[in-house]
Amino acid sequence: MTDCIFCRIIAGEIPSDKIYEDDEVVAFLDIAPVNPGHVLVIPKAHYPDLLALPEQLAVQLVIVARKIAPAIITGVGAAGFNLTLNNGVVAGQAVGHVHLHLIPRFKDDGRELWSGQPYPAGEAAVVVEKIRKQL
Ligand code: AMP
Ligand code: ZN
Repeated sequence: MTDCIFCRIIAGEIPSDKIYEDDEVVAFLDIAPVNPGHVLVIPKAHYPDLLALPEQLAVQLVIVARKIAPAIITGVGAAGFNLTLNNGVVAGQAVGHVHLHLIPRFKDDGRELWSGQPYPAGEAAVVVEKIRKQL
């Protein structure tokens, strides 16, 4: 038996509030929603994170998110949504089975995202060079 909680949901060993399923992808309600209608979109096959996921499945996850988003948004009366993926423990990934979060957003819901700040002078050029030479 796997100790991956999402594999166990797919296997039917743990209950979930499923809203969508096809041959490769499942979407169900997050058990601790940021807002009502917060859905997780996951591949049925176990891959730990986005970089381990085959390209075609990564595309499928986004296709499914796009397909179900209007129903979620209309269903819960949201005004928009965030589509996020926490990749790696340091980024807040608690479940090691890759998943998209589709989070409905409501006006003045208080769920502000991170605040950014401009690069100090010259720093953007340094950073872009560091990244470009890795590509
Ligand atoms: P992350 O921090 O990106 O790995 O997100 C994991 C998400 O899985 C969290 O938002 C949890 O609330 C959610 N979660 C954990 N266990 C379950 C479960 N049994 N059913 C539904 N969602 C779950
Ligand atoms: Zn898994």
